[in-house]
Amino acid sequence: MTWLLSRLLMALGATLLGFGVGAVVRAATGVDSLALGVGVFCGVVLMLFVDAVRGHRLLTWLRGNQLDSAPRDTGLWGELGYRIERAVRDRDRSVARGRLELEQFLSAIEASPNGVLMLDAQEQIVWCNRVAADHFSLDPERDLRQRITNLVRAPAFVAYLQAGSYAEPLVLGNSRGPGTLSIIVRDYGEGMRLVLSLDITERVRNEAMRRDFVANVSHEIRTPLTVLAGFIETLHTLPLTAVERDRVLTLMNQQTQRMQTLVADLLTLAQLEGSPRPAPDRWVALDGLLTRIAADAEVLSAGSHRLNLRPATHAELAGIESELLSAIANLVTNAVRYTPEGGQIDLAWRVLEGGNAEICVVDTGPGIAREHIPRLTERFYRVDGSRSRETGGTGLGLSIVKHIMQRHGGELMVESEVGKGSRFRLMFPAARVRHASDSALGDEAAFNAAALSDH
Ligand code: ADP
Repeated sequence: MTWLLSRLLMALGATLLGFGVGAVVRAATGVDSLALGVGVFCGVVLMLFVDAVRGHRLLTWLRGNQLDSAPRDTGLWGELGYRIERAVRDRDRSVARGRLELEQFLSAIEASPNGVLMLDAQEQIVWCNRVAADHFSLDPERDLRQRITNLVRAPAFVAYLQAGSYAEPLVLGNSRGPGTLSIIVRDYGEGMRLVLSLDITERVRNEAMRRDFVANVSHEIRTPLTVLAGFIETLHTLPLTAVERDRVLTLMNQQTQRMQTLVADLLTLAQLEGSPRPAPDRWVALDGLLTRIAADAEVLSAGSHRLNLRPATHAELAGIESELLSAIANLVTNAVRYTPEGGQIDLAWRVLEGGNAEICVVDTGPGIAREHIPRLTERFYRVDGSRSRETGGTGLGLSIVKHIMQRHGGELMVESEVGKGSRFRLMFPAARVRHASDSALGDEAAFNAAALSDH
């Protein structure tokens, strides 16, 4: 109530001024009524003048941007100015807080791996994050306020948006870029819609791979099973001679072995995918492995090829012995199986610049056309299907080799020329290779180096 006191004091001051002026007029004219009139007039004018000045100052401040403080007058105007200033500051603070919250909210949506797009009741874009802009090939600034259906014209999308029933997500092939999108729409506010998009390219590809894989496995198993069923039927129904019976049993045995090899390869693949990376401090003597592989290859070749598979490497590889054996043996076995009689197969060991090393299996077989090379490591991919099956191949061998090499931080490389032969190279990183003389080196140092190179 201090403003009331100061107002009363001002009224008292005006009254005193009016009284003084009235007294002067009365002394000069001797007319009482004139003195009273002039006195009251002067008092009122003074009050009005002071109010007008203070009111004007407050209005000027209000019309401005209110960045400086309100006029610090005494009395009613000062109180009014102070109250208005406080209300303005409170409003500014809550607007700033709201803006900050909105910015944080939008940057959280911006960071989302999913596309988020807001549409108003007219299907115009109100806001979209960068991921949605990328999914729908939009410009997040230029395309604001544009109808989404003018920009994303895929008929399936337009129909889905306009149907208004969004229980199931829409799966949309991304025509402007590679990939597949899963799109979900949700209604919110008054006629507003939220469009969420998710890139499911990888998922779709994995599902297709899984389907292909199951179809391939079923096919690979069904063929020998059909043959076996046929033979069983024959054994049941036909009176066979001892020789015929023997032949049928041999063929049945072959088919059984084929299925066993397939199941073994499938299990190997599953095991490779599910087990941890090979430790970088388990050293396997390469020469021992090569001796075993060469012995098996000699049995398989049965003298049909010139084999040169036993280089003295004096090297050790860090990894899992059974996997290293499987990778090298797969290449050597393939070389023997695919190289016609009289051909030559060589296995070489080479230490490269920087300490990396490679095992090279070279044959003088039929070679592989350039277009097949990138696909050789796909599961069940065969260049020559009949030759592969004839020789007991499953189509999984090189896929297993690739997996093993990746797990050992290495790589499988293939060079080949039709009619001349093929060269399969297993590249090992320096950290997983050591020579007999290096073995003296602390195992810990070798472990650290291998662990580093694997990351
Ligand atoms: P498979 O069990 O059929 O041999 P792989 O995965 O080991 O399966 O090999 C894939 C395909 O690559 C084979 O079917 C074959 O056509 C081709 N291939 C592999 N090694 C050789 C080679 N040394 N010479 C010619 N072709 C080869």
